[in-house]
Amino acid sequence: MTDTPLSPGSTIGIIGGGQLGRMLTMAAARLGYGCIVLEKGGCPARDVCVDHIDAAYDDADALAMLAEKADVVTYEFENVPIETVERLTGSVPVYPPAKALSCSQDRLAEKRFINETGIGTAPFLAVNNDADIADALKQFGGKGVLKTRRMGYDGKGQHVFNGDAPAEETAIFDEMGGVPLIMEGFIDFACEISIIAARGQDGQIALYDPARNEHSEGILRRSTVPCGAASSIEAKARDAARLIVDALDYVGVLGIEFFVTGNDELLVNEIAPRVHNSGHWTEAACAINQFEQHIRAIVGLPLGSTARHSDCVMENLIGDEIAALPAIAQKADAVVHHYGKRQARPRRKMGHVTYLSARSGS
Ligand code: AMP
Repeated sequence: MTDTPLSPGSTIGIIGGGQLGRMLTMAAARLGYGCIVLEKGGCPARDVCVDHIDAAYDDADALAMLAEKADVVTYEFENVPIETVERLTGSVPVYPPAKALSCSQDRLAEKRFINETGIGTAPFLAVNNDADIADALKQFGGKGVLKTRRMGYDGKGQHVFNGDAPAEETAIFDEMGGVPLIMEGFIDFACEISIIAARGQDGQIALYDPARNEHSEGILRRSTVPCGAASSIEAKARDAARLIVDALDYVGVLGIEFFVTGNDELLVNEIAPRVHNSGHWTEAACAINQFEQHIRAIVGLPLGSTARHSDCVMENLIGDEIAALPAIAQKADAVVHHYGKRQARPRRKMGHVTYLSARSGS
């Protein structure tokens, strides 16, 4: 840990002003810190931050201003240019570390790193042309998920081959943008789980209970805690999380997504060096949520308890679903959260709700 935590009244810079930046800003305010947000145009975080720099993430003047005004900088989005973080790191502490960011930005580097730490992933191959797609599919029995190596999220930049595509329909390298790709073997998973890990500047680690996640069209729909996986799987997920945050010399909150296979194998799908949608439930079911935990880590405060007081189901409110918020808010077990976005669009995350119930088990 730094000798003394940043004193209240200090300023936290956040690159990215979406809902994650907004929720980080709100958590920071509760601990006495003001946030300055770098984001081009209007954004959810602008309504709650003390200062907003209206510029692109790679704007040199804006970055100089951010470094000048902020005592520490963090980010809410893994597609922030690595050069931005490297440039800032020279003049202000930036957490999570650049290594975690660069690793998570390239699915190939990410999978290699995970495997190097001794943790399994889907089998994968780098793809740089149509012939590579055909070769990879052959190797994976015709079933695979082709993904852009960079800039993919919420299922964007992906193509699923389910075993019956004729050869001409696999020649889609150009359709995928002509950019470097990765083919992953298709994992016929029993379920998907994730774990939200936090690591402090002193190396202290705190782990939340794993959540079971359901996706549709690549977007998270629902997270359920407890996740219902065997306790041995939960233990493996915790061990993997510890190995990963230590290997990255990580500071802050990190989301790790896993596939659980039918024969109880645990494979990492991806890591996100930031607060994570599958951890939003912590806001309602834990005294210290993932947003506060991240702020604590980056300002040098001790990490808080990850104890969960309730069972819960978090559901995203996507697009027009946000219109149901007033009705949902009438339910006694519902904790609602609106991101303040002015316009609902298809696939746009507008808010979420966490339904609480009495904690089961011990
Ligand atoms: P990703 O953007 O990599 O997190 O993928 C989004 C979702 O697509 C995942 O949460 C899974 O539901 C599905 N998916 C991704 N990769 C694979 C894979 N190799 N095998 C099966 N399903 C996958």
